[in-house]
Amino acid sequence: MPGLYLHIPFCKQACYYCNFHFSTSLRQKGKMVEAILKELELQRDFLGGAELGSVYFGGGTPSLLETSELVQIFEQIHRLHRVASDAEITLEANPDDLTTEKLQDLKQYTPVNRLSIGIQSFAEEDLRWMNRAHTATHARACLDEALGAGFQDLTIDLIYGSPTTPNAQWAENLRIAFDYGIPHLSCYCLTVEEGTALGTFVRRGQQPPVDEERAAEQFTMLTEAASARGYEHYEISNFALPGRYARHNTNYWRNEPYLGVGPSAHSYNGSARQWNIANNALYIKALEEGRIPFEQEVLTPEQRYNEYVMTSLRTMWGADVERVTALGFRAHFERMARPFLESGDLFQEGAFFKLSASGKLLADRVAMELFAEGKAQSG
Ligand code: SF4
Repeated sequence: MPGLYLHIPFCKQACYYCNFHFSTSLRQKGKMVEAILKELELQRDFLGGAELGSVYFGGGTPSLLETSELVQIFEQIHRLHRVASDAEITLEANPDDLTTEKLQDLKQYTPVNRLSIGIQSFAEEDLRWMNRAHTATHARACLDEALGAGFQDLTIDLIYGSPTTPNAQWAENLRIAFDYGIPHLSCYCLTVEEGTALGTFVRRGQQPPVDEERAAEQFTMLTEAASARGYEHYEISNFALPGRYARHNTNYWRNEPYLGVGPSAHSYNGSARQWNIANNALYIKALEEGRIPFEQEVLTPEQRYNEYVMTSLRTMWGADVERVTALGFRAHFERMARPFLESGDLFQEGAFFKLSASGKLLADRVAMELFAEGKAQSG
């Protein structure tokens, strides 16, 4: 079922590692909500009237929206779309925003039924190093509050591989998350992106680059600990208790269409991708003029195949050779996969090619080796 993504481009402060689109000035928040309502209206036919299986507020920090602003957006969504009665409705939230009152309001006045909380770490030193707006106390308190308010469907983000996270602290972060019984975890390796504060610190030698060896150790600790606690490692960065997969994100990995609304949001209709301008002022201005400021790219057969390989290999379901055949790249795929089958980084189960434990450490490299550049081949 298709999904709807809404990008809320505001944050209290800039985390040093982050390269998402956001502004730390909240001055235009009201106008942004108006612009998003307008874009929802203009994009009403993008998904052809299909029922929505998921709605996802990402960002930025959607928990910075007032409950009344969220209610306005939900009213517009329900006016324009059919939303499945059991739709997954996720709000990304930062721990310091999740006060008792906020959580009660979300429960009472909005259909949000899942919270994705940006914990990142339960250690003060890590949080300060990342320039997060919350403290270690907030990180635990928000979980108590959210569970107490009746939000059982929680997912949290954690980051490993930072220089302030020794293995013992990483093990402790995982233990705390598991002890809370959180049904879903997204765990990301720290990456140093150009254009971020961390990128500048590393370039100037003020911070070390990511220690790849330690990051790999922490990834292995993660997969082993999650498995011991009964979690399925269903996507390279995502772990769920049985059946508790993130429906919205799983749709991305399964190539389902989605509509993205808000500055920098991406949309996909099955054959083309489009993305909105990543600039709040220009986005608002365009919507005030009744235009959606986006660029579009119709995917070539190679791009469709490459995207399929990249996303499917990252999941526990793997890449389906029948699908690769339908995309026109079977001979290329099987030829390029052979060395990885021989090295044990890939294995085959029926029609599906999957990453082994060692392959998961090289997921992006394996996928890139399988990519196609030339023309689609027959067979
Ligand atoms: S709160 Fe999230 S979106 Fe905002 S700067 Fe930090 S990581 Fe980026």
